[in-house]
Amino acid sequence: MGRYLGPSCRLCRKEGVKLMLKGDRCLASKCAILKRKLPPGSIPKRRVKVSEYGIQLREKQKVKRVYGLFENQFKKYFEIASRKKGITGEMLLILLEQRLDNVVYRMHYGSSRKMARQLVKHGHITVNDKKVDIPSYLIKEGDEIAVKEGSKKLISILESMKVLPRVGTVPWIEVDPDNLKGKFVYIPKREEIDLPVHEQLIVEYYSK
Ligand code: SF4
Repeated sequence: MGRYLGPSCRLCRKEGVKLMLKGDRCLASKCAILKRKLPPGSIPKRRVKVSEYGIQLREKQKVKRVYGLFENQFKKYFEIASRKKGITGEMLLILLEQRLDNVVYRMHYGSSRKMARQLVKHGHITVNDKKVDIPSYLIKEGDEIAVKEGSKKLISILESMKVLPRVGTVPWIEVDPDNLKGKFVYIPKREEIDLPVHEQLIVEYYSK
């Protein structure tokens, strides 16, 4: 299945949660999920009882959409997570958090994961002083992630960084906003990742 090209806010309304797909707008009162709580559709319908499979599917879709992945990519992460020591659902989320595009988003170089992915793809980001243009590149503990020297004046990055004093960053990533660089200090624990999903349902979905 191809990448979804419709309105991002529609996805949040379908899942009934904020998936944070539109940068600054997601932090403002304009957020569609705050204004319109009902699922998308011309005639608002009451939510109907969903099957067990349906609940598991929705949980999987939520996470897939938050990180902007295709089904086959997402399934690969699940397979890697299931081979790791530990709770598969937790390992899955931790792995996704280590993706370079996600880390760039968490550092606020990009206002959304989509924008962060573009920055990586266009070669604006370095890891340990080497350009890395692969959004799925997995960041390890201690890696230093920076905006490339020649890209430090990019308006989109400077604009995006403006939210940092307001929202801060996550505890496992240090950011030096003046020099547009930072460090992935440690691999986060599941309880630190601010994602309102029941990852065990995803494990059940793929275990059928
Ligand atoms: Fe989702 Fe952001 Fe749109 Fe709100 S503004 S509905 S969080 S994409």
